[in-house]
Amino acid sequence: RDLRNEDLKDLRELGQGNGGSVKQVQHTPTGTIMAKKIVLIDAKPSVRKQILRELQIMHDCSSQYIISFYGAFISDPNICICMEFMDKGSLDGIYKKIGPIDIEVVGKVALAVLEGLTYLYDVHRIIHRDIKPSNILFNSKGQIKICDFGVSGELINSIADTFVGTSTYMSPERIQGAQYTVKSDVWSLGISLIELALGRFPFAESSSDDSDLSDFESTLSPSSQRPSNLTMRSVNEIKAEKAAEKERRDKKKRRKSKGVSLQGGGMTMSILELLQHIVNEPAPRLTPEDRFPKESEDFVDSCLSKDPDARKTPKDLLKHPWIESSRGPTIDLQAWASTF
Ligand code: ADP
Ligand code: MG
Repeated sequence: RDLRNEDLKDLRELGQGNGGSVKQVQHTPTGTIMAKKIVLIDAKPSVRKQILRELQIMHDCSSQYIISFYGAFISDPNICICMEFMDKGSLDGIYKKIGPIDIEVVGKVALAVLEGLTYLYDVHRIIHRDIKPSNILFNSKGQIKICDFGVSGELINSIADTFVGTSTYMSPERIQGAQYTVKSDVWSLGISLIELALGRFPFAESSSDDSDLSDFESTLSPSSQRPSNLTMRSVNEIKAEKAAEKERRDKKKRRKSKGVSLQGGGMTMSILELLQHIVNEPAPRLTPEDRFPKESEDFVDSCLSKDPDARKTPKDLLKHPWIESSRGPTIDLQAWASTF
């Protein structure tokens, strides 16, 4: 029953994220192929044990839209989380390989993510917190499932620091330090859907370094309102990044810097500019007009209401006409999976 590291044979690396890496492994006693996520955690043994206890909730998560869980264990100094292996990988990898994703497939993705979020929230009161294309996985059976949801509060605390500067799917209210709600996930879904349909991250097309930082800071909630560590750290890191970037520009060394700039359309936007943009500018949309069905445009617009009070919950959005029609026989995902 208990998973042990000794029983897992490494097959290949599947990818690397900010918190660690993911490997395809085989559980030799049973032959089961799994994905093993290795998370490096700088925490006391007691905290690690607490994380492990919290992760056990994943054993109770059972839905066709959620990655299934085999178990977790400590392998000093890491925590290993073993989950269902999805042989077609994540949707970011898919669009980077085959280009923009057919809008009918995007509709199925929206449906699956909403079902998964509704299940997590209604049954377990879990908010995902990290919806993005790399956490939406696909397999050759044509199934779409979400992974990496925030089951463990301690785990979130322990790795929050390493997520600094990458939270580009963050909603405007989160950037401004508000509590996470299930509606923040809906924003992230909206951004992810545009990314899949266009084949590129929807922001990062304008760039200007004349933007006034103090303006932006005044939009963030004062520290007395206890903004999250993540947000405060982000802003500080960003200021450092911003200064560093300016210096680089002054020296006319226009060189890309890993994790600092986002590239798109030949222009770059620093993380600060991006966060500033999300807070101050109108939300992105599924454009150009007429390229996509009206209902899909409308759905994305409702995910991307900048005011969280006006934004719908995953459960409400399941009733949206585009989602209802995506439930139907629009496209055969298993057949689609065999095309790449
Ligand atoms: P991120 O999600 O930020 O990319 P992760 O460490 O969570 O970072 O995952 C790294 C990569 O590993 C993902 O982009 C995905 O392509 C791949 N991956 C993660 N989990 C699985 C899985 N269960 N099956 C197949 N591939 C996976
Ligand atoms: Mg992930």
